[in-house]
Amino acid sequence: MGNYFIFDMDETLGEMYPMFYFISSLTENIPEDGKIFYDNAYNIFVKNLLSIELSNEPLGVLRPGIFKVMDRLAVLKKQGKVKDVVIYSNNGHPESVRFMRDIINAKEGDLVRECIDWTHPMREEERLKQPGAAYKTWNVLKKILVEGNCKAPADLESKNIYFFDDLDHPDLQKNLGPENYFKVPAYNFRASFDRIADEYRRALEEAGIHDDNLENDIKNFRNKTQNTASRNTKPPQEDEGIQMMLKAVGMVGGQQRKRLRSTRKRRQRRSKKLLRKN
Ligand SMILES: [Mg+2]
Repeated sequence: MGNYFIFDMDETLGEMYPMFYFISSLTENIPEDGKIFYDNAYNIFVKNLLSIELSNEPLGVLRPGIFKVMDRLAVLKKQGKVKDVVIYSNNGHPESVRFMRDIINAKEGDLVRECIDWTHPMREEERLKQPGAAYKTWNVLKKILVEGNCKAPADLESKNIYFFDDLDHPDLQKNLGPENYFKVPAYNFRASFDRIADEYRRALEEAGIHDDNLENDIKNFRNKTQNTASRNTKPPQEDEGIQMMLKAVGMVGGQQRKRLRSTRKRRQRRSKKLLRKN
């Protein structure tokens, strides 16, 4: 049976806090006749932020090193060892969770198949459990994997789940056990608001949206977004959380790529020897 890699979003895949108003303004309350333009601006914003995250001067919205993990998962998905990658978040802003999916998928193809936020229709029983508390449970996760986009087999077992979160979710911890529940250190670097604002302006401009209120809007966003890094502050180095993720990925995939490469080299050496003999 294939494996499922499930990631919490906030403080696990990245720190979306400084992104909130930008994402919201590109996706919410857009008038019908502006939709094409704003969708375009959104796609440009995703693409440009991705290339910054992959550059030598990343913003650090995404956890440094996370694409190393996603690159490996994309390979394993092609090999059938990983069935799907899922975001399982208690964030109540679906647009932010989808943004995280979109920036990962912009690099990895359709790697993230399911995107679960707090408002997901199949999470009713988690929301009702204790209003105001944020639950993640094996029952609901399994139900969404089976009945949602992933179409996992109904006899899906917890040993095929690799789950990463910066928090404790007792029901999941109990059902997945320490082998499959990975509590990673919280990643809470708040990327530079000013650098994100630059990309926001650029995306609107490239999409041909001219808004007289733009600078005023950005000022408002800024007033509501606290304690972000300065332009010149570098995000932290890749941490223990990435090591934990890579280790879990290795448990599923082994060291395939390295072995393949050395086999190829060996084969080349062998055929060279043969050529010399002939
Ligand atoms: Mg979290």
